[in-house]
Amino acid sequence: MGHHTTPEPIRTARTVLISGASIAGPALALWLHRYGFVPTVVERAPELRSGGYKVDLRGTAVEVCKRMGIMDEVRAHSTDMQTGSYVDADNKTVGELPAEIFGARTGEDDEIMRGDLARILYDRTRDDVEYLFDDSIASLTEDEDGVLVTFENAPPRRFDLVVGADGMHSHTRRLTFGDEQQYRRHLGAYISIFTAPNDLNLDRHEAYHALPDKLVCAYSSRGQTTAKNMFVFASPELSYDHRDTAAQKRLLTDAFAADRGWQIPRLLTNAAAADDFYFDSMSLIELDRWSKGRVVLLGDAAHCTSPASGQGTGLALIGAYTLAGELAAADGDFARAFAAYESHLRPGVEHTQTFARKFVGEMTMDRKWKIQLRLLMVRMLPKMPWKGFIAKKIAEDVQKMAHAVPLKEYAGVVGHRAA
Ligand SMILES: Cc1cc2nc3c(=O)[nH]c(=O)nc-3n(C[C@H](O)[C@H](O)[C@H](O)COP(=O)(O)OP(=O)(O)OC[C@H]3O[C@@H](n4cnc5c(N)ncnc54)[C@H](O)[C@@H]3O)c2cc1C
Repeated sequence: MGHHTTPEPIRTARTVLISGASIAGPALALWLHRYGFVPTVVERAPELRSGGYKVDLRGTAVEVCKRMGIMDEVRAHSTDMQTGSYVDADNKTVGELPAEIFGARTGEDDEIMRGDLARILYDRTRDDVEYLFDDSIASLTEDEDGVLVTFENAPPRRFDLVVGADGMHSHTRRLTFGDEQQYRRHLGAYISIFTAPNDLNLDRHEAYHALPDKLVCAYSSRGQTTAKNMFVFASPELSYDHRDTAAQKRLLTDAFAADRGWQIPRLLTNAAAADDFYFDSMSLIELDRWSKGRVVLLGDAAHCTSPASGQGTGLALIGAYTLAGELAAADGDFARAFAAYESHLRPGVEHTQTFARKFVGEMTMDRKWKIQLRLLMVRMLPKMPWKGFIAKKIAEDVQKMAHAVPLKEYAGVVGHRAA
């Protein structure tokens, strides 16, 4: 296209519409506001979604939290998990390990409930950033100097840029890049998680029960009077309605109908009663490009790495830091900023997705002997004199991922302030 002589229009970008108020969206809003942009966040849910599971913050993501100035608050809301164990069909503990070994956390790494982190980010931004709850983008029409956005409820508005931070099933991605099926890679397993009574009296402890192709877990973190139950099972892609929770509960019950060991029947009863029931495919999102024109994707919407990676939240935070930094540095040239953001994150994301593809098989071990070997290791490890060294070795792959995207320095970052 070198023969074009018409000068490019001057590209300014100050107003940014962000779709999704979970982790990526509010984190981006925080940075954009600091850089002098005017972000607006639209969230489909009627209020900030409080539910969720515990998410790890490791490596570079911890540094981003420090630069955001939220690390103290993150620590104050740490799950404070103490131990993790494997239990057999009779609820006998086969082996128990310290929580850091279970979660492959080292140094300053921490763990927090997703809802608590979303709340911290929202509270930090709500006075400076406009949030539109109970609404969704209806259409996007881009022209030379902006995007005309229509909403399901609010009146139409123009924005300079639009960011899709609306998760694995991103609505912004569907509007801009087309149907999800082109980009989602099912990893061969489903995951379900929900709040349940803490009948096992777990105190900052997670208990796992492994069966061929399946994993069941119950945990309770600090300050919780309830527990979370989690089910993972291997399965080819199932077809079901994403809005039909009753149908998803049936799929889960059917998958575990023949399993009577441990507490499985009771945990399934908990599933039936849960009002925050979550069920989804373990999937990756893989796109050739994360932006088109004035629309860019962030977090799971761009590159979901699945719960098997344990890095989704971290990457959402690192992505938000990088995208905002590049936009500020590019002085209005958003195309350059989008390209720099993507090329900086992509290698680390791909590394993480490769890990997730492999690790999903570790969550749902397909052979009894593999389960036996895992149990043996968990039983023996605490007794080994060199257990610290072995634990470090086990954590090495995870730690490599947690540092896979280095942080760029951006002029004027109000960072480096100790949290
Ligand atoms: C069971 C489980 C365990 C996990 N464990 C970990 C872990 O240990 N460590 C880790 O780092 N990550 C973990 N993750 C992943 C992590 O939760 C996500 O990667 C992370 O939350 C990504 O954040 P996000 O903001 O991109 O997307 P999401 O958290 O998916 O948020 C998307 C937001 O967009 C909103 N939205 C959807 N549609 C619309 C619309 N049309 N309009 C407006 N808003 C919309 C949604 O309501 C939601 O608030 C786990 C995930 C699961 C499911």
